[in-house]
Amino acid sequence: MNEGKVVVIGSYNVGLSMKGQRFPRPGETFAGDQFFEGPGGKGSNQAIAASCFGAKTAFVGCVGADRYGRDALEMYKKYGIGTEAVRTDPNAHTGMAFIMIDRSGQNMIEIVSGANLSLCEKDIDGAAETMASACVVGFQLEGSVDMVDYGLRKARSLGVKTLLDPAPAIKLDERLYPLIDYIKPNETEATLLTDIAVTDAENAAKAGRWFLDRGVGHAIITLGARGSVLVTGKASTFFPAPKVTAVDSTGAGDIFSGAFMTALSQNKDIAEAIVFASHAAALSTTRLGVVESIPELEEVMKFMAGQ
Ligand code: ADP
Repeated sequence: MNEGKVVVIGSYNVGLSMKGQRFPRPGETFAGDQFFEGPGGKGSNQAIAASCFGAKTAFVGCVGADRYGRDALEMYKKYGIGTEAVRTDPNAHTGMAFIMIDRSGQNMIEIVSGANLSLCEKDIDGAAETMASACVVGFQLEGSVDMVDYGLRKARSLGVKTLLDPAPAIKLDERLYPLIDYIKPNETEATLLTDIAVTDAENAAKAGRWFLDRGVGHAIITLGARGSVLVTGKASTFFPAPKVTAVDSTGAGDIFSGAFMTALSQNKDIAEAIVFASHAAALSTTRLGVVESIPELEEVMKFMAGQ
């Protein structure tokens, strides 16, 4: 049923990055060295990743009635992502992230969510048909938690599996947990949500169990270059990350989620989906950027075959 289709409900932000020798001081105007613009927003990144890995994908979100919003819709078209449930809000600007990077690679980021906060119950109701045709619907926490709650309930009522990537993490009302089939925090997020200090595979398994005790179906705790831990049923399993020379791990979690949802939608079991997602995410860390770093499906398959 609903094979091969992924729906992601979430945020789109334009990332405007400036790199300079140092950060400007308050009140100072400072000449930087480099500027780059790129698409971002966790929901959008995950939808793009899912589509690149071969899932029929639709995005549910809001953009502003400005050039950035129009660019986003064009970009989704280019990636073959369904935009029937992307609303343009005439009264809001597209979500924006200003990123300043100093010469050591440290960054300072300010996000103004704009149209992302316009997403409302009506939008999710309007996306019901799109959601009903999916195998899995993915959520994150960059927008309103009330909409995540509403969307999870809607997906459940439609009999569609749900994945929550709880980033950026905030403590969640425990009544949300039974609505989640798959939760996929990194170690920082798992620590914040569970109050269990996640530093290694052993306590990641404990944190995973904490989620299952509250009604989550399966927990996948990612541990960066070390890999990830799956807690499901009574078992917990460690999945080592493939060895790569990482240059930029920004977005690895989003690419992991997009790949994982794609594999699930293709009827892979959870372990197979994690192995696929781990390889896709590892390859992405060998390149700069987020969307720009998504590897081709063929490359991921070759990398897996060579391991
Ligand atoms: P986030 O990007 O959300 O902080 P992680 O850093 O835990 O998430 O990374 C998610 C997944 O990406 C990891 O479980 C792993 O599979 C892969 N990954 C991240 N960094 C590396 C790395 N340096 N080498 C290999 N795989 C990596």
